[in-house]
Amino acid sequence: MKRTLSKVIYNRGISPSYHLLGLRWEGRIDPGQFFMLRPWSFDRFDPLLNRPFGVYRVFEGGIEILYKVVGRGTRIMTGLKEGDEVILIGPLGRGFPFMEGWEEVSIVSGGVGIAPFYHLIQWIREKGSFPALSLYHGGRGEEDLVGIEEFERAGVTVNIATERGTRGYRGLISDLFKRDLEKGKVRPSAVLSCGPKGMLKEVALICRERGIPCYVSLDRMMGCGIGTCLGCVVRTKGGYQRVCMEGPVFESEEIVWEEL
Ligand SMILES: Cc1cc2nc3c(=O)[nH]c(=O)nc-3n(C[C@H](O)[C@H](O)[C@H](O)COP(=O)(O)OP(=O)(O)OC[C@H]3O[C@@H](n4cnc5c(N)ncnc54)[C@H](O)[C@@H]3O)c2cc1C
Repeated sequence: MKRTLSKVIYNRGISPSYHLLGLRWEGRIDPGQFFMLRPWSFDRFDPLLNRPFGVYRVFEGGIEILYKVVGRGTRIMTGLKEGDEVILIGPLGRGFPFMEGWEEVSIVSGGVGIAPFYHLIQWIREKGSFPALSLYHGGRGEEDLVGIEEFERAGVTVNIATERGTRGYRGLISDLFKRDLEKGKVRPSAVLSCGPKGMLKEVALICRERGIPCYVSLDRMMGCGIGTCLGCVVRTKGGYQRVCMEGPVFESEEIVWEEL
């Protein structure tokens, strides 16, 4: 983990609320790890607290962050320009596992929850592993379907659901995933998931019923990101754990879902 002032390489909108931010960065990052980030200037402390963001892509000399504008901090981020500086602390936390024996992996994501998985796929390929990969990605409508073509180009079988039915299956992505499991269309050795709490809970249940190992990345508001403020604790079967340090990725069976 290091704390750096990183320079913005680019910052561009790819849909009304999704943006890609390229930042200078050197070093190893495991898929699913994250950074605490905040635009930097001497005269502005707005937002006061750094915000957590995963890594969408790693490239020579930099990282790319896929972010969705939801509030003040992310709105301020949209104003970042090439050459601006951001405080970057990380990489933090424990990311997704990948085990050599896994022959088929299903990824289930919702909305901006797709963010950690492109890097995961880059990483799996760089390790020289070629398991069958399927992505089940859902959103409210077309606006939440960012990056899909890149997954297809990377050889991932992509399945889409939109709640409004504007593309793919009409309804929840967890329902489409369950249907495909029941039909035997996918037989994953493991499931990796990131997205809204309700979706994660449902995916965890689907996997539990079938005995499929499932790993979820939890999205909690974080004050510090380095284990001090305890603002992000969740109840697990082993007691309270910090999402920023012991997570953000947990084995789904470890989580006490009723209390999340
Ligand atoms: C480990 C981790 C990785 C993340 N990776 C990404 C990523 O790659 N891309 C991305 O766009 N976002 C990611 N997030 C979520 C991101 O941190 C929040 O969207 C961001 O902090 C919101 O800041 P804001 O100032 O714009 O919103 P605020 O003004 O702080 O809040 C606006 C609204 O969003 C809600 N909110 C704020 N933070 C969160 C949160 N963490 N989870 C759920 N609701 C929240 C608030 O309750 C409020 O309703 C990640 C979160 C975690 C914990």
